[in-house]
Amino acid sequence: MRKLIQGIADFRETKFADYKEVFAKLVLGQRPDALFIACSDSRVAANVFASTNPGDLFVVRNVGNCIPSCDQHGMSTGDESEAAAIEFSLSNLNVRDIIVCGHSDCGAIQSLINGREKIPFPNLKSWLRHIENALDMKNLFLIKNPPKEYHNLISQINVLLQVENLKTYPIVQERILNGTLKLHSWWFDLKTIGVHYYDESEQQFVLIDEKHARELLKELK
Ligand SMILES: [Zn+2]
Repeated sequence: MRKLIQGIADFRETKFADYKEVFAKLVLGQRPDALFIACSDSRVAANVFASTNPGDLFVVRNVGNCIPSCDQHGMSTGDESEAAAIEFSLSNLNVRDIIVCGHSDCGAIQSLINGREKIPFPNLKSWLRHIENALDMKNLFLIKNPPKEYHNLISQINVLLQVENLKTYPIVQERILNGTLKLHSWWFDLKTIGVHYYDESEQQFVLIDEKHARELLKELK
């Protein structure tokens, strides 16, 4: 906490003036570029690796960047709060991109691999059931050129499965069908500080370096 309080004091002293104008605009309303669904892990710092500013991203974070699927009535099978954020960002903010971002060395994935039944906390144990199918052998083929570490492969598979869960939301299906929404699978590697995107044609996560960033920007035009 000391670091946070000191940080507030430092911000007011050194950066307050720079952000005054930014927030004067933001107070009139937000128009975020994307809904960003990521793991709660403190190291997944999108503001650093994607150079984002206040107002750029509408954010949902939870343990394991999990998106419980919807039932046939469009109700989330595990997290109304996240479902509400998905619906709000699409209907009220007209967000046109949703990014699901997993990461390397994820504690949730490691707990899963160690055995969900061994987790001594009832809510965490129950919550991770939503990502348990990442361990299913039949999903191993989803990633070509997988990372060396098994837990990182499972983490990448998990991102793809959560994106599939996202497609069970009626509002997501509707927006994809009318061409106003794109879903993106990202994976952040802590060791290399590299953000990867899932390239469907190559069936693997590819580093977004300068070259790939240029290509992705061209596709967005
Ligand atoms: Zn994590």
